[in-house]
Amino acid sequence: MSVQEPAVHESDDPAAVTGAEIAVQNPATGEIIAHVPDLDAAVITAMATVGRAAQPGWNALGFEGRGRILLRMQKWLTDNAELVIRTVMSETGKTYEDAQLADWSYGLNAFGFWARNAPDYLADERVRSAQVMLKGKRLVLRYKPLGLIGVIGPWNYPLTNSFGDAIPALAAGNAVILKPSEVTPLTSQVLLEGLRECGMPEGVFQVATGRGPAGAALVDVVDMIMFTGSTETGKRVMARAAQTLTPVSLELGGKDPLIVMADADLDRAASHAVFYSMFNGGQTCISVERVYVEEPVYDEFVAKVMANMKAVRNEISTGPGTSEVGSMTFASQVDVVERHVQDAKAKGAQVLVGGERGHEGQGGHWHQPTVLVDVDHTMQCMTEETFGPLLPIMKVADTEEAIRLANDSPYGLAASVFSRDLARGEAVARRIEAGAVCVNDALVNYLALELPMGGAKASGMGTRHGAGGIRKYCQQQSLLISRVHMKHEVHMFPYRRSVTKALGRAFKLMNGRRRPVP
Ligand code: NDP
Repeated sequence: MSVQEPAVHESDDPAAVTGAEIAVQNPATGEIIAHVPDLDAAVITAMATVGRAAQPGWNALGFEGRGRILLRMQKWLTDNAELVIRTVMSETGKTYEDAQLADWSYGLNAFGFWARNAPDYLADERVRSAQVMLKGKRLVLRYKPLGLIGVIGPWNYPLTNSFGDAIPALAAGNAVILKPSEVTPLTSQVLLEGLRECGMPEGVFQVATGRGPAGAALVDVVDMIMFTGSTETGKRVMARAAQTLTPVSLELGGKDPLIVMADADLDRAASHAVFYSMFNGGQTCISVERVYVEEPVYDEFVAKVMANMKAVRNEISTGPGTSEVGSMTFASQVDVVERHVQDAKAKGAQVLVGGERGHEGQGGHWHQPTVLVDVDHTMQCMTEETFGPLLPIMKVADTEEAIRLANDSPYGLAASVFSRDLARGEAVARRIEAGAVCVNDALVNYLALELPMGGAKASGMGTRHGAGGIRKYCQQQSLLISRVHMKHEVHMFPYRRSVTKALGRAFKLMNGRRRPVP
C-alpha cells in the first residue's frame, strides 16, 4: 500500500460484503480515496458468531499470551508510523502533527500500557469480611471477560477513540467488533491488518464498516457497548441497549471551559487557549470550547491570544511543519461552526480573526480558525458544542462569575483553570462540574492512561483509562470458598427457640450494641 495515497480497502471476507459501499473522502481535498463495505444487520450478526467462537481461545492465552501480541502491535506501530499517520491524515484532513501526536503516539502508548497493566488491574482480589458467620471461608473478587464487546467509534480520532477502547477490552480477554465512523473507516482496517501480522487469532478483533444502522445492529448482538460520539446518538445507543439489558459506557460531547484568573501566567494561558482550541481543528471532545477571563487581565490576554494566532496556518498539511490547522473532517461540522459564528455576530460578538468558511471553491471542508470576543451565554458558541476551530473569549467580573458560567452547561467533560496561586487554582478546579480539570494546563490529563477519564452530566457515563477503563469490560464475579465448616450450620432448620434467641444476642453483640453512637 502506498503511504502517500492509501489504497482502496475492501474486506477480504466475502461473507461480509453485501454489495452496498461507502465512498471515503479525503476531507482536505474532497477527493474520493477508497470504498468500504456498508454492512447490514445480518452480516453484523454473523460477525458476532465469529467473535464469540474465537473469544474462549483468546481468553485461554492468558495475560501473557495476549500481552505478547499487543506488544508486537506496539512495535508494528513504530515500524509503520508513516503508513498509519498518512492514513489518518487522508481520511480526516488533519495535520501531520495532529495525526502523529494524538492518534499514532496514543496508540503506541496504549498497546504497551494495557499489555503491561492488565494483569494487575484484573488480578483476583482477596476480600476480608467482618461477618463472623463467614469465618473459615475464602472470599475472592475476580474479573471475568464479558465475552464480545462492541466499540462504536467517532470520526475525530479514528485511532485513539476506537482503539483506545478496543485495546483494554482485548487485553481483558474479550473479542471485539469495532464499528468505525462511516467517515473514517480506513485507519481501523490498516490496524486490523497490523494485528493479523502480529498474530492476533482470526475473529478476535473484527472491523464492521457501515453507517449508523450498522452501529445500531451491533448494540443488539454484543455483551457490552462502548460508544464515543454525540450526546444525541449516545442516548439512542443507551435506549437500544436497554432492550437487551446490555451494559453501556458512553463518552459524549463537551463544552469545555478555560478560566483565566487575574493572577494567571497570561503567556501560558494564551498559548494553551489557542493550541487546545485549534488542535485537531477543534474537533476534540475535550478541546477548549470557551474562555472566561477576569476583567483586570482581559485586554492583555486577548492581545496575547492574537499574537499566538499569527502563527496559525490553515492549509493542507503535506508533512511535518507545513500547517497548524487542517481541514474539518465531517462536512456538516463546517455548517455548525458557521452557524455559531453567524449567531454570535448577529447578537453583537466581534470577530478578531477568521470568521468565514475556508478554501472556498477548492474542494474539501474548511472553516477558518476564528477568535470571537464580546460573547455571552445568549450565543450558541458559548452554550452548544461547536467542535471546530473556534475560540470565543468572554470577560467576567471575577472568579465567582467564571465558575458560575463554566458550570452553566449541560455538559461536564473537562475544564482548565489558570492561576499562579496553585491552592486557589485547585480550589476553583474542585468546584467545576467536569470529569477532569487541569490547573495551569489543558487536555494532557488524557495522556495519563493511569488516570480515569469520563464525563459528568450529559458528557457521558463510565470512564476510560485507569482500573475502571478495563474492569468495565469484565463481569465482577464473587467467589466464596468454604474451607473450615460444620456439617450442619447453627442457623439452619429446624429452628429452635434457644438458638434463635442466642443468635439475636450474638448479632447485637457483633454489631456494637455496647459501642457509643458518635
Ligand atoms: P454520532 O454520535 O452520530 O456518531 C458516532 C458513531 O456512532 C459513528 O460511528 C456513527 O456511525 C455511529 N452511529 C450513528 N448512529 C448510530 C445509532 N443509531 N446507533 C449506533 N451507532 C450509531 O456523531 P456524528 O458523527 O454525527 O457527529 C455529531 C456530533 O457529535 C459532532 O458535531 C460533535 O459535536 C459530536 N462528536 C463528539 C465526539 C466525541 O469525541 N465525544 C466525536 C465525534 C463527534 P456513522 O458515522 O457511520 O454515522
